[in-house]
Amino acid sequence: IVSKLPDVSTTIFTVMSKLAADHNAINLSQGFPGFESDKTLIDLVSKAMRDGHNQYAPMAGLPALRENVCHKINTLYGSSYNPETEITITAGATQAIFTVITAFISKGDEVIMFTPAYDCYEPAVILNGGKPVNIPLKTPDYHIDLEEVKQKISPATKMIIINSPHNPSGTILSEGDLLQLQELVRNTNILILSDEVYEHIIFDGKKHQSVARFPELAQRSFITASFGKTFHNTGWKMGYCVAPKELMAEFQKVHQYNVFCVNRPIQHALATYLENPENYLELSAFYQKKRDVFLNGIEGSKWEFIPASGTYFQLLSYKNITDENDVDFAKRLTIDHKVASIPTSVFSKNGEDPKVLRFCFAKTEETLTQATEILRKL
Ligand code: PMP
Ligand code: GLN
Repeated sequence: IVSKLPDVSTTIFTVMSKLAADHNAINLSQGFPGFESDKTLIDLVSKAMRDGHNQYAPMAGLPALRENVCHKINTLYGSSYNPETEITITAGATQAIFTVITAFISKGDEVIMFTPAYDCYEPAVILNGGKPVNIPLKTPDYHIDLEEVKQKISPATKMIIINSPHNPSGTILSEGDLLQLQELVRNTNILILSDEVYEHIIFDGKKHQSVARFPELAQRSFITASFGKTFHNTGWKMGYCVAPKELMAEFQKVHQYNVFCVNRPIQHALATYLENPENYLELSAFYQKKRDVFLNGIEGSKWEFIPASGTYFQLLSYKNITDENDVDFAKRLTIDHKVASIPTSVFSKNGEDPKVLRFCFAKTEETLTQATEILRKL
């Protein structure tokens, strides 16, 4: 067999979740909520099924859902996405990301991304013959060095992938960052893929800087998002992509032959559920409380941290605990101490190992307290 992805093996999320299960460890590795989705939403799904909404949805998604998502984005970010032509409902953000990359990246195209980067970007670029150009984020606060981006932009640069709030670091892009990016790509044909799956999970009164807030940037951008993150049902694999009309038309050419359309009864339920903005506007406070339970639990221990500004992940530095590399330490922590996490070096390509682990705090307070009682003793 000639592998199209010779350097790819099983994802770290699968590896660490399995290790956690095999060793009966508290699983703070793979990012998913350890509690149920709102019963109201679950009831809406079963109602849609009972009401007979069980056949194909329109290719781009149910009109009511497209309208309610565009209304949400346009209200929050002052944009004017048209629900008829500028949005597609997808099977999670993963399918949206894969579709954007497949629709636009061809042999030899360079795609700039920032490491540590979420793991699904690079394989999609490679499968389409593109060349990933990895730029390390600068630790300890994982900021983008825009000077370096400027240097790495070449005539072959086709796309830049950004992700704010950022997985795994929990940092966010500021208004200034996006204005600088806007300026950097002015007078180029570079597209932006803005992965905003954690848009509603942002802390300490900070504001999510969606590319939708910046009209000049938005005209060359795709925004990908995930209902799974927002409504605590990652297993439903529902998300969406918005982009200006001409870009969305190309996206849909791929989408219609990839999945054609996605789960219809869930689309009905989400359309209704989105009518109440509280269902997503309360998420930041909900998760900030969990972040603080987790951080208070390890305060005063050997772990070092900068509190996450967004996402449901917290990075912890273990440099005061051991010299081991992060993969070995994450495995030992799971097997010997019964707490599973994600080693962050696997999201980097340049051999960077800043000796930090990623912990998911989308868990009950009881689980978080159990985990921190173990962690603080190390
Ligand atoms: N992008 C990022 C940054 C993510 O963290 C995730 C999921 N954890 C995704 C995309 C994929 O989202 P989905 O589960 O909706 O496919
Ligand atoms: N996005 C989730 C995370 O970062 C994992 C999703 C997956 O397992 N592919 O943990």
